[in-house]
Amino acid sequence: MAECVNYNKCSYFVENLKNSPNTASMVQNSYCRGKFEQCARFIIFEKLGETRVPPDLSPSDKQRAEKILQGG
Ligand code: SF4
Repeated sequence: MAECVNYNKCSYFVENLKNSPNTASMVQNSYCRGKFEQCARFIIFEKLGETRVPPDLSPSDKQRAEKILQGG
């Protein structure tokens, strides 16, 4: 299965889930090694670049990603 191209530079797990390895593993299997095109962080990486991805943006928070894309 394909892996997200941002995997090695994505800080989400180190910043937010370093004490929750089980949750991190679930999210990685679901998004990073699965439906990464639907990850809120992936969307911002692709459209605005790495520097615009908030450290705490959850992969499932597409609503927030939309707001960021709209300039919010
Ligand atoms: S959290 Fe999203 S952007 Fe980060 S590696 Fe996983 S799929 Fe890619």
